[in-house]
Amino acid sequence: MKLTNRSKVVSNKEMTLAEKIYLPAVFKGMGITLKHAVRNIVKGPPIYPYPEVDKPRAEIWRGQHVLKRDEEGRERCTACGLCAVACPAEAITMVAAERTKEEKHLYREEKYAESYEINMLRCIFCGMCEEACPKSAIYLTDRLVDVETNRGSFIYGKDKLVEKINERIDITPRQSDKQKNAVK
Ligand code: SF4
Ligand code: SF4
Repeated sequence: MKLTNRSKVVSNKEMTLAEKIYLPAVFKGMGITLKHAVRNIVKGPPIYPYPEVDKPRAEIWRGQHVLKRDEEGRERCTACGLCAVACPAEAITMVAAERTKEEKHLYREEKYAESYEINMLRCIFCGMCEEACPKSAIYLTDRLVDVETNRGSFIYGKDKLVEKINERIDITPRQSDKQKNAVK
């Protein structure tokens, strides 16, 4: 589904002579390889026996998203669509629905996301969606997106995105002061 008109067609500009013969780019690539090879010989390669030992990730690492629940276990997302509009990769789609009286314990707001999908192949993990969310409902986490063997499996729905009720994910280290104050 196309949500915005911000995508642009990139023109194919004429390649320069250096680009046409590829050699400068090849030598540049070999230079980078050589630099790393020398560093590894001198310092020893940084080896992690994954999956037993995970490579340490930076605090600002942005991995797989989570759709948060509130302290009562209700889904925070109100399907306002701001994350989808903010997403530069147009990776987010959703369908909104009205909450019924019987569903008050499931959804925090009167409107909720009946379906919510992120195309992980499109996502560039920029974090704009969490910046845009007025309900502190979506955050990127330090989790890795699973390896898949077909493209369709990278479309993550609510089953993969919504926080499990008994496996809460602490996102407070990621929250800005503004976001912390916004959470009610
Ligand atoms: S992290 Fe960026 S690219 Fe990925 S879904 Fe959020 S806004 Fe879109
Ligand atoms: S995650 Fe946040 S911004 Fe996105 S639809 Fe839900 S409430 Fe709106």
